[in-house]
Amino acid sequence: MAGIVVVLDFDKTIIECDSDNWVVDELGFTDLFNQLLPTMPWNTLMDTMMMELHANGKTIDEIVKVLQRIPIHPRVVPAIKTAYAMGCDLRIVSDANTLFIDTILKNLGIRECFSEINTNPSYITEEGRLRVLPYHDSNKSHHGCSLCPPNMCKGLIIERIQDSITCGEEKKRFIYLGDGSGDYCPSLRLKEKDFMMPRKNFPVWELICKDPLLVKAEIHEWSDGEDMERILLHLINKISMEEFISADCKRQSFSVSSHESLPHVLPVRQ
Ligand SMILES: [Mg+2]
Ligand SMILES: [Zn+2]
Repeated sequence: MAGIVVVLDFDKTIIECDSDNWVVDELGFTDLFNQLLPTMPWNTLMDTMMMELHANGKTIDEIVKVLQRIPIHPRVVPAIKTAYAMGCDLRIVSDANTLFIDTILKNLGIRECFSEINTNPSYITEEGRLRVLPYHDSNKSHHGCSLCPPNMCKGLIIERIQDSITCGEEKKRFIYLGDGSGDYCPSLRLKEKDFMMPRKNFPVWELICKDPLLVKAEIHEWSDGEDMERILLHLINKISMEEFISADCKRQSFSVSSHESLPHVLPVRQ
C-alpha cells in the first residue's frame, strides 16, 4: 500500500535491547559508562565511550561482531519484510547512530526495506575510532523542543517527513512504532487518521497513558515482536481496505453523475 508510511524507532522497537548499551556491556565497559552517565548528555557519552574503546585497543571489527549478534524477536524481521512487500514506505527514526543501525540491518538482510534512516551520524577516523555526532548540532542552533534531548527531536523529523510527502493531493497515513520517551514528541505530531503503536509498559506508553487525549492518532499498544507483527499487519490491511473503499466510492459517484442511463441499483461489494 503506497499510501502508508511506517516510521519505526530502532532500539527496543526493532531490536530487543539498546544498541549503545549492548556494545558497551558486551565489550566490558559498563562501569565506566555508568560512571560517566550523570556527567554528560547520552549522545556525547557515546562518542566518549567510543574514544575509550579505541584507547583500550577495541577495534571497529570487534564492535561490528558484537552488533551482529544483537538479540531480536524472531517475528520482527518477517513483519518488516511483509510490510515492505505490501508497498509501505518504511523509515527509521533513532537516537542510535548510522554505523550501528546499518551494520545490524545489513546483517538481518533488511537494509533495503527502508527508504530513509534518520539517526545520529557516525564515521570512522583514520586511527580507527568511531565518532558519533549529534543529529541536530545544538551549538549552531537549538531545535527548541523542551520534550527532546538537545541532539535529536524526533517530532521535528516527523514534521519534515509529513511536509515532504503531502505535497500531492493524496494524504499518506502514518503508523509510528516506538518505546522510549523520545518517541513521545513525534506521537503528538501524528494526525487523526494516523496510528501510534507504543510498546506497552515502556516510557512512551506511560507518557501517553497520562493523558491519551493529547495524541490525535489511534493508539494500539504492543508487547513483543509477535504482537507487533500482528497489529502492524492488521493496521496496514485496515488502511488498505479503507483507501480501496473510498477510492471505489469516488469512482462510482463519478460514473453515476456522468452517465444518466446507469442502472439504479449498483452492485454491492461483498
Ligand atoms: Mg527505542
Ligand atoms: Zn521534540
